[in-house]
Order: sequence, then C-alpha cells, then structure tokens
Amino acid sequence: MVTETAESLCKSVGRVIHSDDRSETECGEFMRIRVEVDAHKPLCRGRRVRFSPDREGWVSFQYERLPIFCHWCGVLNHDSKECDLWLRSKGELRTENQEYGSWLRADPPSLLRKKVVRVCGYGGP
Ligand SMILES: [Zn+2]
Repeated sequence: MVTETAESLCKSVGRVIHSDDRSETECGEFMRIRVEVDAHKPLCRGRRVRFSPDREGWVSFQYERLPIFCHWCGVLNHDSKECDLWLRSKGELRTENQEYGSWLRADPPSLLRKKVVRVCGYGGP
C-alpha cells in the first residue's frame, strides 16, 4: 500500500499530518500515519476497503501513544469506569460486550523498529 492510499484511509480517523519520511511510515506489514484525533469522538477501529471490483477487505487501525480511552464508547476523554454508559447500566453491562479493547493499542515505535527487517535488492521470481 502506498502512503497516499493509507493517508486517505486515515481521513476517517481525523486530520492526517503528512510525512515524507518513508522510514517513519513504511513498517513492513503495516503503515504508520500520523493523525490528529478528536478526543470526544470514538476511535475508528478500521475501514472496509475495495481492492478491486470483486475484492473487498478490512483494514484495521491501531493507535500508538494512547493515553486512557473508554472500552465502552471508544473516546479518549474518559476511561471505562467513568463512562456514562457504564454508570447508567448500574453493573449490567459485561466487559465481554465492550466494543473497544486493548487491541487498539499499538506497540511503541521504538520496539516496532527493531522488528522491521528491510530486504534490499531482491529481484523476485
Ligand atoms: Zn465511555
């Protein structure tokens, strides 16, 4: 996937901050895009993408540097224990029904960098 495609996908997350640094954006199996996120809106978990007229797929989003976020409604401005949905349910909501989870959290970039192996000059078949 090229950076421009990834950036246009990420417009559903928030305001995309473009980077020309390919070492920052291209990370092997995924791409890193810097996005300004509105803390009052639910985090976007991913997007359905049409690769060709008869082929669709799902692109999942993960977030680095997530402070707290609500596992019930996916916003960043309160945590799960302070959520209105949770408080109003008076304990009836079950954690297995949470729509957001720690899987939204990406590993810190310093750890990711070490896992990336670049293969240069491979011509293919
Ligand atoms: Zn909430």
